[in-house]
Amino acid sequence: MKKEQLLKIGYSILKENNLNDIEIIFKNNIRGFAWYKSRKLILPEFIFRFPNCYQLYYLMHEISHFIRFEENDFEHSKEFKEVEQSLLNRFHLKLIYKKVYPKKILNMLGQVVYNNEKRRQNE
Ligand SMILES: [Zn+2]
Repeated sequence: MKKEQLLKIGYSILKENNLNDIEIIFKNNIRGFAWYKSRKLILPEFIFRFPNCYQLYYLMHEISHFIRFEENDFEHSKEFKEVEQSLLNRFHLKLIYKKVYPKKILNMLGQVVYNNEKRRQNE
């Protein structure tokens, strides 16, 4: 999708969670970041070479960090994953995890819309 659209979704979910001080920034990075102190959410530009579902997943992953930071959770904990999946529920997307990151993303019909099984985990 377009950057503007992804930004709009991101800021609306941040607002719902009372995270009004977070700035979403796109960078030519190899990965994303959620910077707790500087309140910056970094999204790598490469996500736009992937399907919409992956872009949404990436954004929700970083937003989940900010939500969990409020509980002093700085890990990819079980609770972190629950928040991440609950944010993705509204987009009817389900994560199939391989440790921390998804190996697959499914739509509401259970169809695979993103498959990372053969890619390396470097995000
Ligand atoms: Zn993470």
